[in-house]
Order: sequence, then structure tokens, then C-alpha cells
Amino acid sequence: MVVSVVVTNRCNYSCGYCDRWDGRGEQMAPEELAAYLDEMAAMGTRRVIFTGGEPLVRKDLLERLDQAVALGMKVQLNTNGVLVPRFLERLGALASMMVSIDGDLPTHDRVRGPGAYDAAAEAIRVMRRAHPHVRVRISATMSSESLGAEDALLDLARELGVTVFFQPAEHRQLGGEGSNALAPPTARYRDAIDHLLLEKRRGAPIQNSASALAYLRGWPDAPALPCAGAKLFCRLDHDARVMICGRMGEYEESHSARDGGFRRAFLSLHEAKCPTCWCASRVEVNQAFALRPDALLGLATAAT
Ligand code: SF4
Ligand code: SF4
Repeated sequence: MVVSVVVTNRCNYSCGYCDRWDGRGEQMAPEELAAYLDEMAAMGTRRVIFTGGEPLVRKDLLERLDQAVALGMKVQLNTNGVLVPRFLERLGALASMMVSIDGDLPTHDRVRGPGAYDAAAEAIRVMRRAHPHVRVRISATMSSESLGAEDALLDLARELGVTVFFQPAEHRQLGGEGSNALAPPTARYRDAIDHLLLEKRRGAPIQNSASALAYLRGWPDAPALPCAGAKLFCRLDHDARVMICGRMGEYEESHSARDGGFRRAFLSLHEAKCPTCWCASRVEVNQAFALRPDALLGLATAAT
């Protein structure tokens, strides 16, 4: 099983399509998160993804990283990159790192703030140099601001020796209820996905499987997928709610780990009945769950 752990709802950025940066909602205390990690490991969890917010603003993050590794779990860090050089030495314990970059320098800095692009690229450079065993990838959010910057990102990925994982921006704000003014216009978004499919066939460093990209092309109207959530993955939110993916909006079901622990909350989840699925990483798992060979291969590679 893979568990995404939203370790904080605070961030040192305030991107235009996100409101998961202002610290609202009660964050899990260090001993509380430590206890949930113990439970996850006892349940056979193979991989945890520390995400946020910006995980590295959480004071006990490195302790929790060491704890998860000692428990036998592989850890991925999702980060905007800016604090990576400060904590570089301890980040060698990671199995993988996903650094957010949305496009070329003007595009990325317009969405995330001045200097954000250089900080993210530098984070990848220093990680690759210091810890070549850690698999580093770029995570690119496809928003109305970034459409058209795909080739610049692929060039950067080639230069840095990493791959890019593309994710459409939601119609709601990431982590919030407000509508997302930066959601990509559907026709332009589909043109961009067609371009990525072509580039993928040409061997470009694109992490998404072709079958998942083809599925995501249908967003926001793609048909329902069989969901492996509540079986193979789930999310522990910053306030200790356990849910399948946190992307379901009105279809969301959650149970608090504070009522009897993580295991109990996880086992209370029911099969998802979403009309569509748009979270690119979950689409990969669900495509593999549907026995798509390229998605299966991609997951097997990601797990190493
Ligand atoms: S998108 Fe990421 S970097 Fe930007 S505010 Fe949200 S959590 Fe922070
Ligand atoms: S959005 Fe996708 S991954 Fe999330 S619960 Fe729905 S079907 Fe499952």
C-alpha cells in the first residue's frame, strides 16, 4: 500500500491555484504522526509520500523521515525545492523526490513567485549531485498559465537528467473549495496532452504512462475508472482524516484517525464512486489496477 501523508497545511509559497499554504486546520502533532506511521508500517505499507503544503517547513519532518525508513518504508518527498539545500545531508534517506516546476522561468515564477524556478532547478541539481541513488522527478501542474511551456520543461528535464510528471490543475483550488481561476481551458489542454503523447512516442522524458495520458486527455469528462483506493492507496490529511485521495470533492468520504487509529479509519473507507478521476498519480495506479501494461511497468519502475 502507498499512503500520501499531508504532513502540513503550511507553505513558504502561496501559488495562485492553491490554498494549502495558510495553516488552516489543526496539524497532526509529532507524536500523533509518529504513531500513525507505526500503524502504517504494521499494516504492510511499502511507501509513504510526504506532501503538503511544503513538507520541509514541518519541524519534525526529518525525524519522521528517519522513522519511516527505520520502519522499512520507502519515502517520497513532494517539495517546491526551496528548502532542499538547507536539509540536503539528511535527504539522502529518501527513495524519491518530486520537485514542482510548472514551465519555463517566467511561467513558473508568475504562478509561484520570483526566484521559485531557480530554487527548484537548483534543488534538483544539488540532490542529483549529493544523492544520486534518490530518484528525482519534476512534477508539472498544467494550468491556464503553463499550457504551452511543456517543451521548455522537457528541455530542462533533459538537462537535469530527470523525468517530468504532468498533472492537470483542478477546477477547484488545490486543497480548497473555491473555483480555480487557473484551471486550463479544455481545448488547449487537450492539444497539450496530444503533444505530450507524440513526444512520449519520440522518447521524451515524460513519466506518465501513455495510457494514463490518454485517459487524462478526457479530463474533465473522462469516464469513471475502477479505483484502487481504499485497497492500494489512501491519504492521511494534515488534520488526521483518512480518505482515498482527497480529490473527490462532494464524493469525498473521510474518517478521522483520531477515532481509534489509522488502521480503523482506513478499513472504514468504501469503494469510490467518482464520475471521473483526474489525479495523475492515482490514474497511474488505477490504470495498473485495470492491468494496463505500460502503467504496470511505470509503477514497477517507480517502486524501485
Ligand atoms: S502548490 Fe505547493 S508550493 Fe504552491 S502554495 Fe501550494 S503547497 Fe505551496
Ligand atoms: S478521484 Fe480517482 S483515485 Fe480519487 S477516489 Fe476518485 S476514482 Fe479513486
